[in-house]
Amino acid sequence: MCHALLQDPAFFRFLSHIDAELAEEARLGRCLRCNGPLHVADFPRKPRGCPATVREEYSWRLSFTCGRCDTRTTPVSVRFLGRRVYVAVMLMLVSPAGGHAALSVRDGLKVPARTLLRWRAWWRRDFQQTRFWQSVVSRFMPPPTGDLLPQSLLERFQGPGCLERMAQLLRFVCPMSAYPM
Ligand SMILES: [Zn+2]
Repeated sequence: MCHALLQDPAFFRFLSHIDAELAEEARLGRCLRCNGPLHVADFPRKPRGCPATVREEYSWRLSFTCGRCDTRTTPVSVRFLGRRVYVAVMLMLVSPAGGHAALSVRDGLKVPARTLLRWRAWWRRDFQQTRFWQSVVSRFMPPPTGDLLPQSLLERFQGPGCLERMAQLLRFVCPMSAYPM
């Protein structure tokens, strides 16, 4: 399991670099409504689940507004998933109730038990019905076992260590970060 990542500021900074790259791509794409230039208009977040040393940089969601029509463009993110207050990586580490890993997330990071229940239900049911998952599930053969999500999905990504595999998983699911969930 990859739970040590949750205590690793270098991992969280690595994700910030990926988000900066994703934001730069969005900025170069200009405003999708009028093709106007995009200006920085980050908005504040209250992040939960990240180490204290990176809290400041995780307190901002990178975003832009159009200099011509004022429409907001918020790039996808590997750090935040939709409006959830917990950082995205925590949702990727949800595991079956009662297991050692589940207890370390609950106790070490003080995630309320009801939040964990909600996350498990989301993986078992809602996630598998998202437009995102419906559009990508056929890439996996056989498809990851639904009852074992998200671990069954993480296992499909290759890499020398947890950091690389988790970063790939977060990149993979980041199209979902643009939808309200
Ligand atoms: Zn515009």
